[in-house]
Amino acid sequence: MRYKLTFPLSLIALWLLLFLRLAVPSQAVNTVMFNPGFTPKKPTKVKILMYHKVNPHPASGGLGLRVNPINFAEQMELLKTRGYSVISFDRFMEARNGNRPLPPKPLIITFDDGYADNYNYAFPILKKYRYPATVFLVYNQIGGTNLWDRALNFPTNKLLNWDQIKEMARNDITFGSHTLNHPHLPELTTAEITKEITDSKILLEKNLKQPVDYFCYPYGDFNKDITQAVEAAGYKAAVTVRPGDNDEKTNPFTLKRIRVMGTYDKARFIEELEKDR
Ligand SMILES: [Zn+2]
Repeated sequence: MRYKLTFPLSLIALWLLLFLRLAVPSQAVNTVMFNPGFTPKKPTKVKILMYHKVNPHPASGGLGLRVNPINFAEQMELLKTRGYSVISFDRFMEARNGNRPLPPKPLIITFDDGYADNYNYAFPILKKYRYPATVFLVYNQIGGTNLWDRALNFPTNKLLNWDQIKEMARNDITFGSHTLNHPHLPELTTAEITKEITDSKILLEKNLKQPVDYFCYPYGDFNKDITQAVEAAGYKAAVTVRPGDNDEKTNPFTLKRIRVMGTYDKARFIEELEKDR
């Protein structure tokens, strides 16, 4: 009777030991046992800079949406001296999918609206530093002007044409969609929203002959239906105008950005860049 009881018990204990040994990796056991202060690795912050116009001429617009090329050049140099790794959205997505870790201090450069001055002033500087960047285009106005700003009495500015876009695309510039017409998306019908988001992707891809995976909400306007429409259209990520940093866990359809104003001097740019959010 005594034998019958102890034998199965010792067998259970043996199996339990074996199970624990197999189920818990020894490295994890060691880490917890020998590093009592151990905390899991912090997620890597990914900063996304938001620019619009890069232009020296005050007539092209106010400093809210326009950075002087001299300041832009200075800012690109600062990214280098302060150890930022300028990456593409594709690289960020690779890291999110766990395929490749992020480099130190990763940062993405974006331009909204697709102004022709991006080609004239920003592109040569980006090329000099071999920085990738993303420009969000308003499909129906490519080669035209910022018609959507007319009602607000904003200055008229030339937008990128297809020759400029194609040259930039061959030189590390990614193009994303900023819709067909730059509308306030929440004011449209569901059908109109789908058209602005889906057709701009299809048409851009047809002309660029490459995937268009990233989207930018005009005026930063979005709601749940709109982010869902962006995801359903097949985009991989979308940027907002909400201030902040991102990491591998941030919702890819509401990525936050750091707005760079034309009024920022060197010190203010560094402050905005390195602010703990
Ligand atoms: Zn815009």
